[in-house]
This record gives sequence, structure tokens and C-alpha cells, in this order.
Amino acid sequence: MNKFRGMRSAMIVGAGVAGLTAASALARTGWQVEIAEASPDRATAGWGLCLTGPSLRALDALGLADACLAEGYGMRVITHVDVDGIPSDQVELPRLIGARRPAMVGIARPQLHRILHAEAERCGVVVHHGLTVTSVDPQQDLVDVRLSDGTARRVAMLVGADGIRSSVRGLLGFETPVDYLGQMVWRALVPRPGWATGIHQFAGEVNTAGLVPISRSRAYVFLTENGVQPGMLPDSELAARLADLLTVFPGRVEELSPLTSASDSVVRRPVQTAFLTGAWNRGNCVVIGDAAHAPAPQMASGAALAIEDGLVLAEELERHSTVERGAEAFVARRAQRCRTLVQTSVRISGLEQAQRHSEAYRLVDTCHRQMAEPA
Ligand SMILES: Cc1cc2nc3c(=O)[nH]c(=O)nc-3n(C[C@H](O)[C@H](O)[C@H](O)COP(=O)(O)OP(=O)(O)OC[C@H]3O[C@@H](n4cnc5c(N)ncnc54)[C@H](O)[C@@H]3O)c2cc1C
Repeated sequence: MNKFRGMRSAMIVGAGVAGLTAASALARTGWQVEIAEASPDRATAGWGLCLTGPSLRALDALGLADACLAEGYGMRVITHVDVDGIPSDQVELPRLIGARRPAMVGIARPQLHRILHAEAERCGVVVHHGLTVTSVDPQQDLVDVRLSDGTARRVAMLVGADGIRSSVRGLLGFETPVDYLGQMVWRALVPRPGWATGIHQFAGEVNTAGLVPISRSRAYVFLTENGVQPGMLPDSELAARLADLLTVFPGRVEELSPLTSASDSVVRRPVQTAFLTGAWNRGNCVVIGDAAHAPAPQMASGAALAIEDGLVLAEELERHSTVERGAEAFVARRAQRCRTLVQTSVRISGLEQAQRHSEAYRLVDTCHRQMAEPA
């Protein structure tokens, strides 16, 4: 099975979910890995995310699912609430890491990153903060990389894991548009109400909202604002504006509005997608995670794809005699699954904006079942 015979040194650009998990997966198969991360320190914005079954399955393969379950809040059910505030149905997601463990987990991003960083470092990965790549020169079987601190590396593989606005994509000559879907998504950290033991999703007359527990004491409220131009609001206004947007929802959302106005952690981001059509590699350079395929957040599965990428890349490199062949096999294995998720997330965004909530929920359910298939 182990066919790879070349030098095993990799430079990864970006210490996000994709970069850190790829680093650990590669280091476990004997690669020496350095990461260049642009942020000056490890601080990660404080809102939460949901790790669905495929994320947990991929994290379990790295031995990290239990740490995430311990730090986060395990769940199995999504409750859909209609525009009148009445629960309309409950969807039980597939349990991909065994019947005794939850189907999904809500977790604070800083906790997830702490777990991923600790594992990468345990595997011997060196993470440099405040560093980026300024030029990439693929040679035969090697890559010459220049870094923003003036140093250079000659490595066997360069991995661009630098997110939806990837600059590695540009350095490699790949062009892909980043599409704005006409929605802004809000997140606010709040105390967890006792009734929030799974995900709640609330249909609204204009927007949609929801609640995801991320620990016994905390949850995050999300709201997707439809039909707005992308733009910034002053941080000082975010909590009050989100609380306002929530007041029009009936039922249990009424409880969330005051919690949100007291929140000191509210963010508002554009809903954007990107998908790199064709190859994701040039020789021994490859892009992964959101840099190659960024879905809209409605499926809560971008992190799943990012984590799977790292595992599949490491597997395919073991199966092939050169980095280039391994990278090509990686792309061949990943492209369809990632394209389907990105396209489905765009359709869900459109259905939400057309207020076709039950169709959106059915599509989410179908896509979660497709994602349950092995990566
Ligand atoms: C509002 C929102 C909510 C979401 N909720 C969920 C959810 O609940 N569940 C889920 O699975 N997914 C969710 N996602 C998607 C998920 O966050 C992404 O798919 C995932 O973070 C992608 O990981 P990544 O490592 O590819 O990119 P990122 O997480 O963006 O990480 C990229 C890293 O690269 C660094 N970087 C950027 N440029 C450079 C550079 N030039 N040089 C060096 N470093 C650089 C960045 O600082 C960052 O650390 C959500 C996304 C959004 C926007």
C-alpha cells in the first residue's frame, strides 16, 4: 500500500481547520510539516460551529472526536419551527461515530482550534504565526517557496489551506470567483436556555434564525438576513441590531432577543461560496478546504469537507509514488462530493430567500444523508 518514495516535507499555508488537520494527517504518515499562518497569534473569533456526522467521523479518524465531544455539546436532533412559532418536524441526523455517541456536536471555535493545534504540535508540526507565502516556484518533484519574513524553503509539497480568499490560489494561477448569495449571517454567543438540547431552526416571514448549544452553559444564536447588500456595521451596534431582527419571530425566539442584546460576542458575515473548477493542483502544489470549495454555512458542513480533505490527501499520497499523482488522485476523489455540497448550499440559500422553508429543510436533510456516505 505504501508506494510513496520521495522526500516528505510540506509547507502548509493557513492554520485553519483544513491546514491543521492536513498537517496532523500528513505528520502521522512521516511528513515533516511547517505551517505559515498569517494571523499573528492563535486567537480565533469566538463564535461557535456545528460539527455534523462527517466532521466527527473524520475527527474520530484522527482520534479527536472525543475531545470535541468533551469540550462541546453532543446532539442528535434538529427541530424545525414554522413561521407561527409551532414546531413542525424533527430530523434525526445519522450517527456516524456509533450509536452510543452523538450525531453532531456544537463547539466554540476557539476550543476546536485549541484541540487541532495541540494535536498538530503533538505530531511535530511547526506552526509559524504572522507568516505568509510570497512566491511559489514549482520545480520538478520539488517546490521553492518564499516567505514574508524573507526566508525560503525547498519542500516536496505546498498545500494552500488559506480559506475562501486564498492567496495561494492566485500564486498558482488559479482563478475562481467568490460569489455573494444576497444574505448576511449573524452569530451571537448567549447562555444556553434549558430547552436547547438540540439544534432549533426557526422559519421567519423574512429571515431565518436558529439556536445551537455549544456547551452545558453556552449556545449561539444564528440569523440569516435575506436580500441585503454586503457591508459592515459598527461592532457597537451589532448586538442591538440582531436583537431587533429577532423580535419579529414568534414563540421561543422571543426569549433569545434579550439574551442577544446582552451578548458581548456578535458577528455578521456575508454568505459566500467559491468552487475551483478543474484541477486543484499544479504539480506538487495543491489547494484544500475553503480555498478549493467553500459552501454557504446553511449545511454546517464546510469544516467537514476541510477535515476530510486532510485525511484523503494523506491517504492518496501513501497510495501513489509521487506527490503529483497523489495530489491528482486526491482531487479526483474529492471534487464531486465538494461540488455537490457547494451547489446544494446555493440552492438552500435561494429557497430560504424565496421563503420556501419546507423545501429547504428537505434539501438539507437529503444532503446530510448524501454526506453520510464515506468521503
Ligand atoms: C458564518 C459561518 C458559519 C459557519 N458554520 C459552520 C458550521 O457550523 N459547521 C461547519 O462545518 N462549517 C461551518 N462554516 C464553514 C467553515 O467555517 C469553513 O468551511 C472552514 O472553516 C474552512 O476551513 P479552512 O481551514 O479551509 O479555512 P479557514 O477556516 O478560513 O482558515 C484559513 C486560515 O488561513 C489563514 N490565512 C488566510 N490567508 C492566509 C495567507 N495569505 N497566508 C497565511 N495564512 C492565511 C487564516 O488566518 C486562517 O487561519 C461556517 C462558515 C461561516 C462563514
